[in-house]
Order: sequence, then C-alpha cells, then structure tokens
Amino acid sequence: MTWWEQPDDAAYGLATLPYGVFSCADAPSRVGVRVGDHVLDLSEVALALGHEHADVFAAPSLNALMDLGPQRCREVRAWVRELFVDDTYQQLVERQLRRVTDVRLQLPFEVADYVDFYASESHASNVGKIFRPDSPDLPPSWRHLPIGYHGRAGTIVVSGTDVVRPNGQQRPGPDGVPRFGPSSKLDIECEVGFVVSGSTAPGTSVRVGDAGDHLFGVVLVNDWSARDIQAWEYVPLGPFLGKSFATSISAWVVPFEAFAHAQVLLPGQDPPVLPYLQGQTDRDVFGLDVHLEVRLNGSLVSAPEFRDMYWSPAQMLAHLTVNGATLRTGDLFASGTVSGASPDTYGSLLERTWNATDPVTLADGTSRGFLEDGDVVTMTGWAPGPDGTRVTLGEVRGTVTPARGTGA
Ligand code: CA
Repeated sequence: MTWWEQPDDAAYGLATLPYGVFSCADAPSRVGVRVGDHVLDLSEVALALGHEHADVFAAPSLNALMDLGPQRCREVRAWVRELFVDDTYQQLVERQLRRVTDVRLQLPFEVADYVDFYASESHASNVGKIFRPDSPDLPPSWRHLPIGYHGRAGTIVVSGTDVVRPNGQQRPGPDGVPRFGPSSKLDIECEVGFVVSGSTAPGTSVRVGDAGDHLFGVVLVNDWSARDIQAWEYVPLGPFLGKSFATSISAWVVPFEAFAHAQVLLPGQDPPVLPYLQGQTDRDVFGLDVHLEVRLNGSLVSAPEFRDMYWSPAQMLAHLTVNGATLRTGDLFASGTVSGASPDTYGSLLERTWNATDPVTLADGTSRGFLEDGDVVTMTGWAPGPDGTRVTLGEVRGTVTPARGTGA
C-alpha cells in the first residue's frame, strides 16, 4: 500500500503527518513534516517537484501554509501523504529525510493572539475549592460560557526551551508586606491548543458549525503557572504575571483533519447553552478523544482524557468571536487544564498534590508538591486514527532552571 513501512500504532505514522519548522547547519528554517523518527524537508521536495506552493514550504513559519486556506491545505496534506504512498517518489523523499535528532526544531508558527480557556469542569471545580474554599466551586457564568483570558503571545516557546523560574510578588506574611522572590509554587498545566488560520472582519463572528474552516491544527500546551504569584494577583482581573513568563507548545502542529476519527460527543451540557453556542447538529459540537500523559523526570504523574472537557473547541472559537473580535492566522487558543474526575487524571500539580498537601512520589524516590529546579516535564498525547492507527500529538517538554537574580 505504501512504500513507507511502519507498524500501525507507531508514533508519527501516516495518520499524523504533522507540520513543523526546522533548521540545521546547512539549511535555514523551513517547513518539514514528521514521519517516525525523521523529518522530511518539504521545501526541497516541493522545489524538486515544481509544486505550485513550493514557496510556503521555504518560509520560516507555517503561517504562509495556513494562509492557503482550508481547501488548499487539505490538498497539500493529500500530496504529502502521496509522497509516502507512491513509490515513484521514494528516492527523492529518502534523500530529503533527516533524523529528528539531527535538526533544530523551531517555534512552528508566528503566534498572533493567544487565549487560554478554562473548559474542564473538574479543573475549574478543583481550583475553586483550593483558591476560594468559602465560595461555590464554579463561578455563576461557568456553565453558560467558556471562560477564558488573553495570554501573552510573545512568551510562547517551543518544546525543549528551558523555563526560568519566575520572580514575583506573593501573599504578605504576618508583617503585611508582600513577599518578593522566586516562586516556590511553580506548576504545570496540561492543555490542548488549537492553531487558527484565516482572518475574519471586525464585527463578524464564527458560527459553531463553521469553526472547522479556521481550525488549522492542534498542539500540546504546557501553561506554566506560578501559583503563589497567581494567588496574590488574580482578583479581580485574572491571571497575569503568574502565567505570562512562559507557555510551551509542541514543535509539531497536527492538522485538524487528522482528528476526524477522534471526534466524540461532549459529556453533556446542563443547562442548555445559548443558541450561538449550539451547533446545527450534535456533530458540530464535538469533543476529541485525545489521551494525554504528563511525566515529571520520566515518572508518569497524570493521564488526563480530553474527552472529559465540558466545552468543545468549536464553542470556544464561537465564543471568542461572538463580540466581533477578529481572528487572524497564527491565533492560538488553548483549552485550559485538562482534568478528569480522579486525581490520576488531574492535569496540574496544584490539583494532583492538592496544593502540595499530598505530594506525588517519583521513580527516584523523591516527592514533589510543586516543581524543583532541574525538573523536566514532558507531555505527550495520541488520538485514534483510521483503521486502528494512531494520531500522535507532538510532545511538549521543558526543564525548569533557577530564578535569575532579582536585582534588588
Ligand atoms: Ca491554563
């Protein structure tokens, strides 16, 4: 069937074909596609074959590819797949394959605006219990709209980038003076991110049923969070410096089309949502059957299931634009921490260790409430593809490095 031979359940098989941007000593940044442990240089292949869109693969980001629009992007994906199916391409393709360990992976797209949602009921309830024990777990709007905030696009970094422990203000001690210094409650949030393509006009909005026209691809996201900074600053305007120092995304963007076999019904929304958040059919308002794993220094600490999310990606996009705010290519919105009902599916250490009161034990015998300097966090994920195959989400990995001097 294909000259590219790999077991069906192998990582980065032909059901995935994610795009990324790579460079190496003899090649400036360009677009590649991941297959197994290799990257195919699409720039060179497209040039050799006289592909009509060869220029988009020579670009140092995926934005030009995304700007081709959904129909052209589907055609490009079909062409990429054909390169591994039709053996007339075999020699050319094999010449342009590089080991992924031999290239430098770059931030895959120019991030335009970044929004982070809060779409897991378990996560929102858990955070409510921990941060606001005297109030209801969920704010009154939570079941009526997907709550979100605008994050900092400029500090989104590619997987593999070290994350410096942030300095900041924390709750005052008994003397009433805010503490200042390195966060001692540095945390992770395991999330799924959606990369947007295409622009919209001011004053218009994207309907739930049309969201697919703007959902280019999927990345894994680690929304690093300093809980002590967050707890002191977040009322009433929400997350600010406790989140904005770094957000890591995977180097690989999996085309949204790859998730056609992973669409599932949402767990259920009660009360019914307003009409602009409803699709024409149930199929418009779908969840995704994405299985996630979070490892801390190699030890599995959580296995969240994205299908547990209360709000669907299409509803998030519809809500994001319902006020007429424009979209542009490179916008990124993330789901919020993915947490299920049981502690072993909680996607943050805040929840997993219940604010460090119930630490997790790692394989080396040490335990963690929050992250220590030198800790390595790795998030991975997969979804069902056609015929027993797997769609591999790009991994997102980061190492915590010590805080810099405060200059004080
Ligand atoms: Ca988050």
